[in-house]
Amino acid sequence: MAAKVSIHPRVDGGVRPANAAFSGGTLLCQCTSDRVKVSVASQSAHNHACGCTKCWKPEGALFSLVAVAPRDKVTVVENGHKLKVVDANAVIQRYACSGCGVHMYGRIEKTSHPFYGLDFIHTELSPDDGWSAPGFAAFVSSIIESGTRPEAMDDVRGTLRALGLEPYDCLSPPLMDAIATHVAKQSGVLAS
Ligand SMILES: [Zn+2]
Ligand SMILES: [Zn+2]
Repeated sequence: MAAKVSIHPRVDGGVRPANAAFSGGTLLCQCTSDRVKVSVASQSAHNHACGCTKCWKPEGALFSLVAVAPRDKVTVVENGHKLKVVDANAVIQRYACSGCGVHMYGRIEKTSHPFYGLDFIHTELSPDDGWSAPGFAAFVSSIIESGTRPEAMDDVRGTLRALGLEPYDCLSPPLMDAIATHVAKQSGVLAS
């Protein structure tokens, strides 16, 4: 049997379900003063654990927790002057607080991108309860790039499955299908 591994403090004790009536909240950076505040006027979607090396995650966490929300629902409401883009050449422009380093939101500016129109957010930055629950784990093998020993991966995947977070080494099949469909429509292989 696989040994239990700490995935992320917000899921280690079990994944908390979403509140069906939840319609959004605010995200706060981790500075002790002049905190960056972002309003998200919608429930989040596609929440998942992510093992990539680009997502922000709390100190010591093996995975990030990342979701999306419509970009027109995401608004910086306080201390936006502290935000800086982490990597201007990345597809996702991740806006990080220059004080505490937390990524407040990630935005895609390329209009042909399959996920254009959706901003990436970390709902754990919100004091509000009820956000969509993480439903799977993406880019699981990538945690090796952050220093996890390859021989630990059976325990990692076993823990994720026990939490109901099916592990994938890319995105989940529905999201990979959505990306491929978008590409096929753009190239004309799929009519509509
Ligand atoms: Zn900050
Ligand atoms: Zn990621």
